Amino acid sequence: MESGSHLSNHKRIPEEPLRKSATFWFDDGNVILQAQQTQFRVHRSMLVRHSTVWKDMFAVLQPEGKSGSENDCPVVHLSDRASDVEHVMAIFYDNLKTFKLKERIQFSQLSAMLRMGHKYQIKHLCDAVMKILRKDFPQSLDLWDVANLAYQFSLKTIMPSAYLAYIATTNLKTILSDASLHPGARTAAILGRDQLSRWMHFTKEITRSQFAASKVRGDCQDHRKCAAGREMIFLGLSLWDDDDGHLTRLVPLADANGFAICISCSAALRKTHEYIRSGAWSLLPDFFDVSPQWADLKDFEM
Ligand SMILES: [Zn+2]
Repeated sequence: MESGSHLSNHKRIPEEPLRKSATFWFDDGNVILQAQQTQFRVHRSMLVRHSTVWKDMFAVLQPEGKSGSENDCPVVHLSDRASDVEHVMAIFYDNLKTFKLKERIQFSQLSAMLRMGHKYQIKHLCDAVMKILRKDFPQSLDLWDVANLAYQFSLKTIMPSAYLAYIATTNLKTILSDASLHPGARTAAILGRDQLSRWMHFTKEITRSQFAASKVRGDCQDHRKCAAGREMIFLGLSLWDDDDGHLTRLVPLADANGFAICISCSAALRKTHEYIRSGAWSLLPDFFDVSPQWADLKDFEM
């Protein structure tokens, strides 16, 4: 049994022999990180530079290695996955090259950055992932991946929009049976979908009757045409289209001028649409049971 470090009491029965990382084994490295059966010989000062947790860990680490060390290079056992350590070392040592080589950023890379970044308090790793996720959901990720990331790491600032994006493109049958989705994310998605759907129908009803009221707006330029057209147009708004089991994402009204109503009524239609859209958006954290308000959302808080 390997016993290179007293820092971890993690017991493991080696099922396969230890191997040196092909990429991150530096002859002048002065610490060996061991994750699963892979060892990474890297530089202590580099790790300390990035992580206060490693800084504290190395402060109590004996300078002399025990058995299992190579040339008095201490071995530190990590409970992390070898692939996570590999991803993060690639960012530390190769930084921009890592991202350029992988134009399509992968779920495994983002989740490794979040796991390691959060555990070892490497703030810039977490910030980088959040920046990527907030900018837009990367094309290379499936929406359930984004929902899973948000759920697993309690990324509350992106949770509501991640769930919305997922339910807007996935019908209920698939949400219920989607093996890729974390059970907790599934529950949140289904309950949020139900809340949003009911709110939409309720709001549709009260707004429709107001908008289509027979007393035509004072500034309407064509009372006869508009009185007939407004209700039909309102019913056709894509905001709450759920014909095929999807809920339409809260997209802005593309062009209200194409409708058979006057310019004033078109402007009123657009304004109403935007009012409902922003209302739904402001309630999203509540619908998905994340928080009552957007302003209260904090990432990584369970
Ligand atoms: Zn009009």
